[in-house]
Order: sequence, then structure tokens, then C-alpha cells
Amino acid sequence: MDFLPIAWVCRAGFYKSTVGNMECSKCPPHSFSHHEGSLHCGCERNYFRAEGDPASMACTRPPSAPRNVISSINETSVILDWSWPEDSGGRRDATFNVLCKRCRGEAANGTSGGNLRCEPCRSKVHFLPRATGLHNTTVTVGDLLAHTNYTFEIEALNGVSSLAPKMRQYAAVTITTNQAAPSPVTVIRKEKTSRNSVSLSWQQPERPNGIILDYEIKYYEKEEQETSYTILRARGCNVTLNGLKPSTAYLLQIRARTAAGYGASSPSFQFETSPDSAFSISSESSQVVLIAISSAVAIILLTVLLYVLIGRFCCHSKSKHPDEKRLHFGNSHMRLPGIRTYVDPHTYEDPSQAVHEFAKELDASCIAIDKVVGAGEFGEVCSGRLKMPSKKEICVAIKTLKGGYTDKQRRDFLAEASIMGQFDHPNIIRLEGVVTRSKPVMIVTEYMENGSLDSFLRKHDAQFTVIQLVGMLRGIASGMKYLSDMGYVHRDLAARNILVNSNLVCKVSDFGLSRVLEDDPEAAYTTRGGKIPIRWTAPEAIAYRKFTSASDAWSYGIVLWEVMSYGERPYWEMSNQDVIKAVEEGYRLPPPMDCPATLYQLMLDCWQKERNNRPKFEEIVSILDKLIRNPGCLKITANTTSRPANLLLDRSSSEIPALDTLGDWMDGMRTLPCKEAFSGVSYSSCDTLAKTSTEDLKKVGVTIVGPQKNIVSSLKALDSYTKNGPVPV
Ligand code: AMP
Repeated sequence: MDFLPIAWVCRAGFYKSTVGNMECSKCPPHSFSHHEGSLHCGCERNYFRAEGDPASMACTRPPSAPRNVISSINETSVILDWSWPEDSGGRRDATFNVLCKRCRGEAANGTSGGNLRCEPCRSKVHFLPRATGLHNTTVTVGDLLAHTNYTFEIEALNGVSSLAPKMRQYAAVTITTNQAAPSPVTVIRKEKTSRNSVSLSWQQPERPNGIILDYEIKYYEKEEQETSYTILRARGCNVTLNGLKPSTAYLLQIRARTAAGYGASSPSFQFETSPDSAFSISSESSQVVLIAISSAVAIILLTVLLYVLIGRFCCHSKSKHPDEKRLHFGNSHMRLPGIRTYVDPHTYEDPSQAVHEFAKELDASCIAIDKVVGAGEFGEVCSGRLKMPSKKEICVAIKTLKGGYTDKQRRDFLAEASIMGQFDHPNIIRLEGVVTRSKPVMIVTEYMENGSLDSFLRKHDAQFTVIQLVGMLRGIASGMKYLSDMGYVHRDLAARNILVNSNLVCKVSDFGLSRVLEDDPEAAYTTRGGKIPIRWTAPEAIAYRKFTSASDAWSYGIVLWEVMSYGERPYWEMSNQDVIKAVEEGYRLPPPMDCPATLYQLMLDCWQKERNNRPKFEEIVSILDKLIRNPGCLKITANTTSRPANLLLDRSSSEIPALDTLGDWMDGMRTLPCKEAFSGVSYSSCDTLAKTSTEDLKKVGVTIVGPQKNIVSSLKALDSYTKNGPVPV
């Protein structure tokens, strides 16, 4: 410590930085001077002064750790949000650094716990806006690997952190990224062209997000504009397209497939075949060529005709199972990708033949049952383990057929396995095999740790981000797209029939009720009798049993509503008869609390009376993908002016009629005003939505997200109405 050489010195606890007649200053907080004549005050233990801090400033310390870290995972990116540190250390210059670590081992969900071995993330991982020196309390981390554990350490720093490295504190969060489809193929090259063929190669997508199983190559004549196209599949990154027309422009798109499904298609790639040199030959020889071509065409046509006739014949016989590698579609409404078509096990004379065609017979000694996890229609559902020779032990669910069953019950029980065994998709429950040669008869499937979606959501009410919910919905839509591509109509799509695994991946299950959709896209298989889940079923399926993929789309809309309302019962306590009547009269469910307007719009579209106007599952998947990519589109919520209680509030400003009939509150649920308001404002054009004025949206029941807790009172009012009748206002 320095001392002033003159007599007028400051006493202990005071300082004066320059010599002269100025007054002494009291040492600022967290600093001291023990001696007289101090030129400055030293900092207390664990307090510091940064370079450039004036002597009059209090000594400060590093901030405490950031608090309340929240992660919202969207496939392979995550948004991290946190709160400011409780203790700023006495400074206002806090910034944040985010450190990314890739971890292996068992993650303890959401926290930094668990038994993890971590290493720094690859440099490919992107931070938005950046990883260090953040002034705000949020960062988006992208380009992570799919299905991988990561730990993020968020450190708060200030001007004195570098002086006290041991005092630096951080908060950590561990996440597991979701399964993600591969990114699009972007680089396609033309290697060789001839009159009738072209050889192409391409680069693997930048982010495969898994092992690429194959590529789908779709091409068509440019002039025909996709009304007729051909699809090929290739395992590697090259293909030769044969049978093309000379001098013709073609457009082509490629998409990669992993266990998570198809990625987005590449941008259209145009190529042209070489000119037809046949035109340059003499007219005499051209006649010969013409005759040769005509004869060849005639032979081909005859062969095709014969093939079709034989095919038709075979369709009526029992074991059809086309596994085509190359498909040609006459119009774009036909099924895609169509590698295989679903075969209805009920068409087998001996259903046990179907089981053994589609399901593997397991030896009961390979199965260990652990505990009962649910009750199925035919018996208990247990969890357990399956250990096949020279394979790793896996967790499985085991459905058992209880004793004393009839032949028909055994057939119906095993029919589910015959159906499930035909599917192979990450969002469809996977069949491991069946036990039919010993008792009890069992169906063994992959194990879904979180059970059925409806109870899972009810258990975790309001605990997920909208993006997480949309991710789950995307999975269900992707599974349903696969089923509809195979010509399979589920007929009982509901949240209770979706299973959820530990990574929140949703898979369609319960194939008990389903029937085949005939080859003709217009034809629907109908049955007489049987139970119909009224609240989930489209009006035409209830009225005249027209079950199609479009009626599955209606049910999907109800599942969407169930998910966004965390497992609420559709139409609450209304009776089935009231539901049928209300839906037939044009009433629809109101938006769930805090439901993004885009998702409510999708629900309304799924509930179009005219079934051809409902979105196809392919469209639903692509809409949800767009929303996941542009989470801003999810920020505007569909408000509750369309709910009865809010409608009451609206009316009260002019006149206040009491809600006397069910129809009165139903009026508030009519789709029409909302639909009108949304004309030209769809989920596919979020830009338009963003430009629509808040006032316009408010008028039709859409507000920017914010405290909407009056919705709870709307729900209560509705609940009370449905239970106790009209309430005077
Ligand atoms: P289900 O007969 O398919 O409706 O199954 C009855 C109940 O058993 C379901 O609601 C689930 O709780 C449970 N369950 C069925 N399959 C599985 C599975 N693969 N993994 C975990 N739980 C299952």
C-alpha cells in the first residue's frame, strides 16, 4: 500500500487517489484500507476490481450460475433458455458462454446427472447467434447428431471472472436429440447421357442423421408436369435411368431414407436426353425401323396385357405380395411409395398361414416376462425381455391370449400380428414375433417405455414445449402416411392407440379393427356392424361406413386436438348421439388452450365434411415439418372467442343473452368464422399470417401468445354446462 508524503492524510477506511487538498473518500463497498494515507482501497477476499474499474467503484465478484435452464428439442437442434443469475456479483456486464459436450452413457433426463462420458462437440455444431459472449439468455444450437446425448454448460461471466477462475459457475442441462429424417440431397451430377438413358450420381446429404437405407429417385417428363412419373430406388449414390425418350427434357428429384423415414426431396434437377439419330436415316430404313418398333410395342403391349390379366387372377388367389423394385404411376393420386401393398390376413382361408407368412415364430424359452403393464382385449400386456441366439437382449412388450379362448378369438388375436408384421416404419410399432406353438399364445413387440399417448400426456400436463408436441404429431403423421401409402386404413386412430417410447418417439399401434383399402383409390372397404369409436370417426364412416385414409385424416385431427389439450376427452362429457348430431350440423371442437392458430387450422382442415378436401397424410407431414422449421409460425395462438364462455364475454359488450341450448355454445364453436378469417392465411404461408394485423386476428379469436388463463374458466364453464345445463349470465 502507498502512503501520501504529506501530513493531511486519510484515515483508515478512507482513501484519496491524488495528492492535494481534496477530501478523502470512504472506501467503496467490499474494499478496505487499514492504514492512514491510502491512495486506494484494496478489495476484500473474493472481490475484485477489473482493469478499467475506477477506484471509486465497489469491488465485485463473478456472477452466480444461470438459473432455470429450459431446453426445447426439435429433431437435431435445441433452443436453450435460462434466467439471469441470482447474484450478478455487483456488476452489470454479465455475458454467457455455452459449452457443448457430446456424451455417451445413461442420461438422467433434463439434468446434468446420469452416468455420462462426454467430449467436446464437433466444430460442425452451430450456435445462433454464437456460443460465447451472449448478452441474451437464449441460444439455438443446430446441426447436432440425431438420437445423441448432449450436455450444455452455460456459464455466466462478468468483468472480473477472469481474475477468479475458481469462482466461475455454470448451469448444465443434458438432452437427447430426436430421431430426424436426413437432410435433402443437394448435389446431383449428370455422368453420361444417351438417346434413351442417363447416368447420374449425387452426394450423400450433408446431415444423414442415421444410416441411409436407400434413395428414392422420382422423375418425369418436364412437359407432363408430374401427372405421370416413375420412381426408382437405389442403395448407392448413382443410378442409370433407362427407357427414356430421345430429345426430351426430364425433371428429377432424389430423397434419402433412414430408419426415421424420408428426408425432404432435393430441388428439381433437369436433364435432357440426346437427339434421336434415327431421324437421319433414309426413309426406307426408317420404315423398317418403324415396323420393328411397332412390332416391339405390340409385343410389349401384349405382354403387359397378359401380365395384368395374370396379376388380376393372382389378386383373387390367396398369397399376393408384390415387392416391386420399380413402379410407374399413371397419376399422382396413386399410392406412394408403394414398395409393398398391405395384404388383409382375413383373405387367407387359413389365418395361421398369414401369421407365419408375416410374423416370426419365437421360441418361448427366449422370452422372459417381467411384469404386467396393461390390459388388452384378449389378455394381459406384460413387459419383458427377448434374447434371441447370437443377438443382444432387448426389452419387449408381450401380449398374451388368456386361456379358454375360442378358435375365432385366437384367429382375431393373431390377426393383429399378421397386420403388424407387414409394416416396417419407425413410427409404427415393430413386431418381434409370435409364439403360437406353445401356450400361452403371445405377440411380442418392441417395448414403449412411456405407454399410451393419452395417459402419458395427462400425466405430464403442460410440461412440453409446442415444438416437442409438434415433433410427436409429426411422427404419428409420418406413420399414418406410411400406412396410407400401403393402402391400409387404420379406422381406430386415437391417442390411446399411439405408444410413446423413452425418446418421445410416437408409434401407431392397435391394428385390431383395421381393414384393407382396395387398390382403386376411390374404393373403400366397408363392413356392416362392429363398434365405431364415434368421437374419433369421420361422419361418412359413422353414417355409411366409408372408411378411407381420408376418414383416418379426420381421426388424426382429433388426435391433434387430444395432444394439444394434453389428453382431454374430445367433446368432454357429451353423449355419442349429441356428438354425431353436432358434427353433422357443422359444429367442431374449439381450439385447446394456447393452441397455435396454425395447428387449429390443420385440425379444422382434417374435419372438413367433404372428405376429398381433407389433407393427405403426406401434406400433414410436410405442414408439420414446415412448422418445426419455422417455430415462429407457432407463436400465434388460436384464442377462445370461439369457446362458449369467451363468446359470452364478447356478447356481453353488446347484449347479454343466456346460453339456453347446447346449440348456443356450439354456435361459438362453428368453424365458419374462423375459416373465413383464415382464408389466405394458412399454415403454408406463415408470412401472410405474420403480416395480418393483430387487430384482425383478435376479431376472429386469435391473439398473440400471452397470458390466456381465462381459458381455464371457459373450460370450467363448458364443463359445468355439459354437466349441469345452461348457466344464467
Ligand atoms: P392394447 O391391447 O394394444 O390396447 O394394449 C393395452 C395397453 O398395454 C396399452 O394401453 C399400453 O399401456 C400397454 N402396451 C401395449 N403395447 C405396449 C408396448 N409395446 N409397450 C408398452 N406398453 C404397451
